[in-house]
Amino acid sequence: MTTRVRYAPSPTGLQHIGGVRTALFNYFFAKSTGGRFILRVEDTDRERYSDESLQDLFDTMNWLGLDWDEGPEKGGAYGPYIQSERSEIYRRYAHKLVEKGYAYYCFCSEERLEALREEQKNSKSDHQGYDRHCRDLSPEEQNAKLKEFRDAGKEPVIRFKLPLSGATVMEDLLFGKITRKNSDISPDPVLLKSDGFPTYHLANVIDDHLMEITHILRAQEWIPTGPLHVLLYRAFGWEPPKYCHLPMVMGKDGQKLSKRHGSTSAREFRESGYLPEAIINYVTMVGWSYDDKTEFFTKEELEKVFSLEKINKAPGVFDYKKLDWFNGQYIRKLSPEDLAARLMPYLQKAGLCSDPATEKEKAILAGAVPLVRERLKKLSDISEMIRFLFKGVSVDDKTILIPKNGTPETTADILRWLAGYTEAFFDRSDEENEAVLRAEAEKRGVKIGDLLHPLRVAVTGTPVSPPIFETMRLIGKETSSERVRRAAGLF
Ligand code: GLU
Ligand code: ZN
Repeated sequence: MTTRVRYAPSPTGLQHIGGVRTALFNYFFAKSTGGRFILRVEDTDRERYSDESLQDLFDTMNWLGLDWDEGPEKGGAYGPYIQSERSEIYRRYAHKLVEKGYAYYCFCSEERLEALREEQKNSKSDHQGYDRHCRDLSPEEQNAKLKEFRDAGKEPVIRFKLPLSGATVMEDLLFGKITRKNSDISPDPVLLKSDGFPTYHLANVIDDHLMEITHILRAQEWIPTGPLHVLLYRAFGWEPPKYCHLPMVMGKDGQKLSKRHGSTSAREFRESGYLPEAIINYVTMVGWSYDDKTEFFTKEELEKVFSLEKINKAPGVFDYKKLDWFNGQYIRKLSPEDLAARLMPYLQKAGLCSDPATEKEKAILAGAVPLVRERLKKLSDISEMIRFLFKGVSVDDKTILIPKNGTPETTADILRWLAGYTEAFFDRSDEENEAVLRAEAEKRGVKIGDLLHPLRVAVTGTPVSPPIFETMRLIGKETSSERVRRAAGLF
């Protein structure tokens, strides 16, 4: 049997990193078993749907290179499956369930349901949710109401007739048997809404069946709906797929991962310059491991070695520091050319380079890459790191030029000496320059850092910069000398 799995997000918000993990697990499971990966957009909740979320879903899949294997034809390309385009199918199946006696029309008005909710809120009764008012209408009553509705151009909703007693068991590959009393399921859930759109339950079950999904890998938070879905499969006379719910992703404090912990949307990670390679690797390791030691996997490797057996039943911990570390490692694996190409958009966004970049800008960046690659955690760090290569520096507050143990007087004196030396600097090697600065520091009874600090701030405008000698060579003799002179002039 060929494995067939799907990632089935609802475009009602930006792609969450937990959703990304679900997508990755599905994708790698499909690949590692020679199966097929399907993308299905569950967009039948039209109130919560947004175009922006749909676009974000595509951007995310594209960024991570998660291509789906099939879908309806669309102008030469295919897919994904979009539920809002399949309403007719769900309607047909919902009516089939009514015919078979597993579902029924509900004619209750919004006002009646609202009044019911109010009443239940105020009374202490155990009974919550729909009161099954329309469940046992006689065929005559039902037909009369149906006619009345349709004459008025309306459609009633269709509700599922839940068994009143008993319990339903869902088998989960990871969590084992999950049993739920049927009386604990919210009474007679709506399958088809009055706008003709299906609810999540109906569309999800029908599609998983029609698309011949073999395994449902989805977030743990969907476990509560599982038994209802099993009942729906039974009503249709279908075999449910195998379930494998995925343990939740949490922050280091044991709480569900949220804004409080840091970025949670794929877009934030993308925009701040995490490499897709690093996200794929790290996020797959949240709750899955190959063995106790191997940490680095390329996408191609994961396509081979991923397996459900190695999913950890305990919640996965998302460690932002670890991700930063992974990202740094991946940044350093890139060739200088590749890294420069990926950095350029960040410089353009910061307004430091033009778009398209000029040859000169490209050359400056190429020169800077070897100086910054060891220090970049994420690509967006680049603009602050090398702003001074593209823009003039202005030291507004001259006290930042003063080293820890210095005074305005000693600093002014050092800067004047440096201003006199900068021209000569460019005729010497780094070793020679270091020796000269060291000797000068000794003569003044200070540390070499007390000379390097004002030099660095003068040239780059900040006390942290890439290695200062290389940086000066990148900026050139003229600009470097001018900046040091200007800084000396501040005192
Ligand atoms: N549309 C649901 C979601 O937003 C899908 C749940 C499932 O995978 O069955 O996650
Ligand atoms: Zn009703």
